[in-house]
Amino acid sequence: MNPKPFEYHAPKSVAEASSLAEKYGTDAKFLAGGQSLIPLMKLRLLSPSHLIDLGRIPGLSYIRDEGHDLAIGALVRMGEIARSDLVRRHCPILSQCAHQIADPLVRNMGTIGGNLSHADPTNDMPAVMVAAGASIVAASGGGSRVIPAGDFFVDTFTTALKGTEVLVEVKVPIGPTRRGAYLKLERQAGDFGIVGVAAVLEMSSDGRCAAAGIALTGVGPTVVKAARAGEILKGAKPDKNVIDRASRAAAEEAQPSGDLRGSAEYKRAMVETMTARAIQAAVRRQAER
Ligand SMILES: Cc1cc2nc3c(=O)[nH]c(=O)nc-3n(C[C@H](O)[C@H](O)[C@H](O)COP(=O)(O)OP(=O)(O)OC[C@H]3O[C@@H](n4cnc5c(N)ncnc54)[C@H](O)[C@@H]3O)c2cc1C
Repeated sequence: MNPKPFEYHAPKSVAEASSLAEKYGTDAKFLAGGQSLIPLMKLRLLSPSHLIDLGRIPGLSYIRDEGHDLAIGALVRMGEIARSDLVRRHCPILSQCAHQIADPLVRNMGTIGGNLSHADPTNDMPAVMVAAGASIVAASGGGSRVIPAGDFFVDTFTTALKGTEVLVEVKVPIGPTRRGAYLKLERQAGDFGIVGVAAVLEMSSDGRCAAAGIALTGVGPTVVKAARAGEILKGAKPDKNVIDRASRAAAEEAQPSGDLRGSAEYKRAMVETMTARAIQAAVRRQAER
């Protein structure tokens, strides 16, 4: 099926995009890589009358080392994240996650801003952002604000962005003591995951976790922050007993429902297994810089 007719707008600035969104309200949608929006329009599950293409706005496609953060512009494609040496060196969990998203065709079009703004509970990047304690920068004609990733994902396909706000940047904390891993259980390579787990650990010199973030993909209405799992790891040496307790807590915190990918019981069991593996992988990883 083809989408219903729509009017196409190509603003040259975030302020212009935002004012178009204000003008057309719920009749308008921002367009980035189109990898989620266009299929929905083709299926006529969404039929906006106005598409506001962010792709012509200069200055939204960069990956920068800002010392304590890796700053990533909203229009950076998943493929660029997967291939970036800077990302691999400073924040390998991001490369690892990007590599597991769909296939090269989708990765070469889909953007980080779109992956997060779409807030699909089976999209992979939200869990990495929540586990890493990332910040999301939203801008409109009226200025910008920073939203912690933990507050950004509100519900299925719903974020804290206001209708006129554009996600312009993501800031992911980096540092020599941080370790992270994202593991995804999928039926075949390139699928949306049955379950995904992001684990980010801040290690202290005595081998304890000074802080830990665990977040889950595909087992709730939106990304699930497994806060109790993180608390169990905090201040502890990540030995088998601690990892087992944290993984069990993550499984209890998951809110899975049964679907074509598996029953709720199966997904909960997989959260426990995948959380243990993600924490172990994070512990094993070399310092991220
Ligand atoms: C076959 C296939 C398989 C896929 N598999 C996976 C997978 O395994 N894992 C995964 O994570 N994803 C997967 N995806 C989704 C893919 O990652 C999309 O690229 C992503 O969800 C949306 O990014 P986009 O840039 O294409 O956004 P678009 O499709 O252009 O937009 C998506 C939504 O976000 C809004 N939006 C986009 N950018 C912004 C912004 N900067 N500010 C505010 N709002 C914005 C749009 O208005 C729209 O509502 C798959 C997609 C396809 C087609």
